[in-house]
Amino acid sequence: MAAVGVFPLKCVVQHYAWGKIGSDSEVAKLISSDDSSVVIEQEKPYAELWMGAHPKGDAVICDNRISQKTLGQWIAEHPECLGSKVKDIFQGQLPFLFKVLSVNISLSIQAHPNKELAVQLHAQFPDRYPDKNHKPEMAIALTPFEGLCGFRPVEEIVGFLKNVREFHAVIGSEAAEMLENSTGDPGKVSDALKKCFTRMMNCEKKAFVDQLNKLVKRVLEEAAAGKDTAASNGELLLRLHSQFPGDVGCFVIYFLNQVKLQPGEAMFLGANEPHAYLNGDCIECMACSDNTVRAGLTPKLIDVHTLCEMLSYTPAPAGAKIFPSVRDPCDPCVSVYDPPVPDFSVIKIEVPSAVERYMVSSIDSASILLVIRGKATAKAAPSQINIHRGSVLFIAANERVDLCIDSTDGMLLFRACCVL
Ligand SMILES: [Zn+2]
Repeated sequence: MAAVGVFPLKCVVQHYAWGKIGSDSEVAKLISSDDSSVVIEQEKPYAELWMGAHPKGDAVICDNRISQKTLGQWIAEHPECLGSKVKDIFQGQLPFLFKVLSVNISLSIQAHPNKELAVQLHAQFPDRYPDKNHKPEMAIALTPFEGLCGFRPVEEIVGFLKNVREFHAVIGSEAAEMLENSTGDPGKVSDALKKCFTRMMNCEKKAFVDQLNKLVKRVLEEAAAGKDTAASNGELLLRLHSQFPGDVGCFVIYFLNQVKLQPGEAMFLGANEPHAYLNGDCIECMACSDNTVRAGLTPKLIDVHTLCEMLSYTPAPAGAKIFPSVRDPCDPCVSVYDPPVPDFSVIKIEVPSAVERYMVSSIDSASILLVIRGKATAKAAPSQINIHRGSVLFIAANERVDLCIDSTDGMLLFRACCVL
């Protein structure tokens, strides 16, 4: 009998407090759709679904022919399942963690170090930076999804400095003027942005809380009087302030782009890119690491010096932060989100209605497949597995999966892998 190379996984749910509550959460909907015995607790946050072999959330294998209990254990026994190149380059580990996120309350504003900085930080502060790896991330919206990402164009930041005097007060006139006078020369722009941002992050707590309270009071009054508060980014300011009162992150919204993704649109967060997830449901894929440097909207430690030194102070418009997927010229059902890092790619497979058979192609990488919509029998000798919304399959390298589709509205699948 052929060895089992394709099997279903039961994945780990993380109930972080920022998650969407009960049935509002896509994570909750997916797990209850996959397993009818799951009862959603309507008071409980369902923040993340971890589809991978991370030690803090190793997926359980649902195949009684396999003696290992978890995916991590199985990969350790069968490293060849990773694919020959992946196995060698990533030392026998699955290089990515695949997730679904349901965000109700903003996550902290943060950035992740590149590999070089990660090695240095881990050596200096192993408690704060637990590993030596970089942590590039990609988010693909499942529902309308909102985040902060990268520095805004200078004109926008200068506009806020003019319109929001409390923000100007936190930055100070010297740095603000430097930014106003920097346009045109990218080197000067970066220096001026860094200076402004560093001033804000180093502003004495009482001073910025005073300014923030004044700003919130003013915007509330303007809103009550029926005035448009867009010039102060009033709606987002009030929302974040209600979640994190007195937090410096409320001013960070004047520096960073507010990016809105429609379902299927993606955002790639490379090293040193400041970002925060604000609201919505998404697929996320990342390199295996826990290295995060925080910048606000958090009760956790902010390492101001590391943060201000590491960030990429490269302004760009919000539209430039949407990461394009590329249609596979050989398969009209497939679009690939292939970020400029070796650790992971995500493939979107959208099979139209009326198609009855579809072959999930073999690749020289282990992959994890999540069903968002549709129903099928998945055949990969010697296995035959019924899959439906919420199902998660592990597919070993070079295995093909033949889908006999049993739904009238087609299928939508996301597959994380490592294309080298
Ligand atoms: Zn992040």
